[in-house]
Amino acid sequence: MSFFRLQHISKSYKELSILRQVNFELNSGEIFGLLGESGSGKSTLLRIAAGLIDADEGEVWIGSEKLPPASDQLIPGHPDIKIVHQDYQLSLPLTTRENINYALRFYEKTYRNERIEELLELCHLQAVADRPAKLLSGGEKQRTAIARALAEEARVLLLDEPFAHLDLPNRRRLSDTLRELTTQSDLACLFVTHDAQDALSLCHQMAVLKEGELLQKDTPEAIYQTPANTYIAALTGEIILIEPSFFQHYFNISAPLLDHQIVARPEHFQLSTIINTEETEWVKTMVKRVAFEGSRYKIEVLLENTLLSVYYSTPLPLESEVFIKYVAQS
Ligand code: ADP
Ligand code: MG
Repeated sequence: MSFFRLQHISKSYKELSILRQVNFELNSGEIFGLLGESGSGKSTLLRIAAGLIDADEGEVWIGSEKLPPASDQLIPGHPDIKIVHQDYQLSLPLTTRENINYALRFYEKTYRNERIEELLELCHLQAVADRPAKLLSGGEKQRTAIARALAEEARVLLLDEPFAHLDLPNRRRLSDTLRELTTQSDLACLFVTHDAQDALSLCHQMAVLKEGELLQKDTPEAIYQTPANTYIAALTGEIILIEPSFFQHYFNISAPLLDHQIVARPEHFQLSTIINTEETEWVKTMVKRVAFEGSRYKIEVLLENTLLSVYYSTPLPLESEVFIKYVAQS
């Protein structure tokens, strides 16, 4: 049985239904990513998971313990579940060390100091330990908020859009920290994000939330490679929708249908500037747009009236003739 479970969670504000029958669970040592557009209900779900607000229906379980209703408690929440809000909620005049210390104020001094040093190291904050929070970078603030949340040995860490304000180096550093934390301390970590890349690259399991409903729940690979519908396909990466008879006519190969269309991704095509006459599957197209993407170029080619995208290692002249073929998905 999984360690942390949300069962049949529903929530409405007045007439408006925000969450509908949401179910998922995660294990200790696991990172679970919940992907959804802005307004899909992610923060509401996270607050319910933290025991801070009541669901209209459904239950949250931690181990064999059911969370009591938030409205019955003097201070809502559960000691083993910690949440890091999107705005971090740090005390800005206080230093990193003092912010963490605040969460440990009821503990004995020697233990407190040892624990602070441990957390500073764990969250890579030693260099900024004595700097006031108002002078910290976005990434440092985020890691301070996580260190403070984890000060008291939490078993479940909930993060609301942890990557939202971070640049690329800080995203990487936070990903590494979360991976280390979950494996080292057997923490169950649930984060919500609107950015598919963050969910795909970091979590063990993920789910897609749309207008309060969980559409698909699986590993990142399964969600990316076999999305349940075109909405999820488009949310998780670039897609090219192709009419099946058009596709069959040119590529003469079968491909999976989704919502009555072929859903291809740029990596499903290969490009060649010369044609090998022995291979019949190459189709002649024309280069219409070239976009530099760092490690590669994205080439858009025109086939009749349909634009297809394909990755290539070098730029190509506009209006030049190139050949593409569809590579079957494994
Ligand atoms: P997300 O975090 O995915 O952006 P939220 O959970 O914040 O989504 O909000 C989902 C929907 O619920 C939004 O339409 C929002 O306006 C609405 N909502 C959130 N909190 C309240 C509230 N306290 N009262 C009324 N509506 C709310
Ligand atoms: Mg939100």
